[in-house]
Amino acid sequence: MALTEFELVDRFLRRHDSGRNDVILGIGDDAALLRPRAGHELAVATDTLVVDVHFPAHTSPADLGHRALAVNLSDLAAMGAEPAWATLALTIPEAQADWVRGFAVGLFALASRHRVELIGGDTTRGPLTVTVTVHGWVAENKALRRSGAHPGDRVYVSGTLGDAALALSILKEAGEMPAAHATFLRERFFRPQPRVDLGRFLCGRASSAIDLSDGLAADLTHIIEASGVGAEIDPETLPLSPAMRSLADPNRARTLALTGGDDYELCFTIAESAAHELAGWEREDECPLTRIGRIVAKPGLRLIDATGAELKLPTTGYRHF
Ligand code: ADP
Ligand code: MG
Repeated sequence: MALTEFELVDRFLRRHDSGRNDVILGIGDDAALLRPRAGHELAVATDTLVVDVHFPAHTSPADLGHRALAVNLSDLAAMGAEPAWATLALTIPEAQADWVRGFAVGLFALASRHRVELIGGDTTRGPLTVTVTVHGWVAENKALRRSGAHPGDRVYVSGTLGDAALALSILKEAGEMPAAHATFLRERFFRPQPRVDLGRFLCGRASSAIDLSDGLAADLTHIIEASGVGAEIDPETLPLSPAMRSLADPNRARTLALTGGDDYELCFTIAESAAHELAGWEREDECPLTRIGRIVAKPGLRLIDATGAELKLPTTGYRHF
């Protein structure tokens, strides 16, 4: 059934059950009215997903609703911010009620998990494109940045690397996932879990952070360039999932872990002297942290194995243009 923009928003997107008390006026007027939080800075991030560029056309509306918010919450996680509000610019070819209902299911399931309220947006007709903007709070002067890494810091990543890229390559080539790993790989590609709690835990502990959207090598390069340092990574230490270990040979696994996009894990650096504090996190949560290397003064990213030999870096990262 085709509905007007107003009906779509009113029936599926206008919800005030986030439990937040800082939304003075949400969806329904010309602008939302929000209450700022004393002693905090507002972190704001936007990400756009375009059909056939950022997600396959057969992606379910619920998966897309999840993903559109997840990739944005991942940016807040990388800043150490606590998510608060989101806006949604939705461009859809047809105003189909079933499609928007499904999209809302995926979006709001993730939004409630992080107490995010959808406070406004815009709805237009055109090729499927979803833009979400998120806003979150971080205590004054405490945000994690890309620019704080120092020589001697350790480099860590959360979770496992390359799974989303592996899933995408299997979907493209074979079309069907091997049964034993299908659920895991589908979740890793279609339902990335933003590491919001980890980012907040790292606030005041990590020296720099970034979320992994374009692949470890490309994203860690952003940290070292912003910080004016270099990094040495031991390829043997890159955390790989059981699915990766069983479906990809060691060479391909390493390349996917270094260059595969869409993992939405966090990569961060932490001073040697603060690294013991990470034990507090590993006991609390199932998302493991793995030490993969160290920050050095010499600029550039290098792969150094346990014997000290330098290996060639695979060509890196997702290129947007
Ligand atoms: P205007 O024309 O004044 O921009 P709209 O008619 O576009 O207002 O939107 C009416 C209300 O619905 C506004 O509060 C707007 O934020 C909200 N809205 C429209 N589209 C969306 C959407 N996709 N998601 C969330 N809120 C939306
Ligand atoms: Mg409008």
